Amino acid sequence: MKIVRYIIDRKIEYGILDGEQIQSLDGTPFDQLKKLDRYHKLSEVRLLAPCLPTKVVAIGLNYYSHAKEVGQPVPKEPMMFYKPSTSVIGPEDKIINPGCQRLDYEAELGVVIKSQASKVTKAEAMKYVLGYTCFNDVTARDWQKQDSQWSRAKGSDTFSPVGPCIETELDLGNVLVEAYLNGERKQQVNTSDLVFPVPELVSYISQVITLLPGDVIATGTPAGIGPMKSGDTIEIKIENIGTLRNYVA
Ligand code: MG
Repeated sequence: MKIVRYIIDRKIEYGILDGEQIQSLDGTPFDQLKKLDRYHKLSEVRLLAPCLPTKVVAIGLNYYSHAKEVGQPVPKEPMMFYKPSTSVIGPEDKIINPGCQRLDYEAELGVVIKSQASKVTKAEAMKYVLGYTCFNDVTARDWQKQDSQWSRAKGSDTFSPVGPCIETELDLGNVLVEAYLNGERKQQVNTSDLVFPVPELVSYISQVITLLPGDVIATGTPAGIGPMKSGDTIEIKIENIGTLRNYVA
């Protein structure tokens, strides 16, 4: 099931996307999934980020292939950092360069939290997950190298494109994650290459940070990261979820 959030007639709603049709939901998908007898065409709405995270918890170096690419050892524990709620944008929105020399895309599988999760075990972790989405961990690479803290390198406005939907069913161990820059494939990996899989990440993070409904865990990028320039179109494509398209301004 694909959950979308959108604006229609100046109102924001959640709905279930089925092909080109959306069925409206009553309220949010985090408390209940109550379908209404109201339908919209996908072409009539403007899709928004499918959730409103209070924070994005992102994971660094979580693919064997990417650790190899940057010549670093695979971490013994998940390496995490924050991206703030103010960095989140939706499908088709513009990524704005805040003045860095090198602005990179990073294709990532995003995990959307369903309900408050604190100190959960690996075994129960998946009960706290609503579904999965495409995430672009936009990074000011030169600032990341210059600064000892990554707040501006990873957390500047527009640095967290999310969408286009939340897919509630996914074969997590076998999903293709790709990045396309101006239509050319730049990144491609299967989630089977993940160092720390999703249940482990949810459990690990929740030992010290309370995850709230709508929060996103960005699970890390594979090999093939690279720069974007003004006028570029960047697409993060994940098998069985969809394509998250943004433009660089
Ligand atoms: Mg990343």
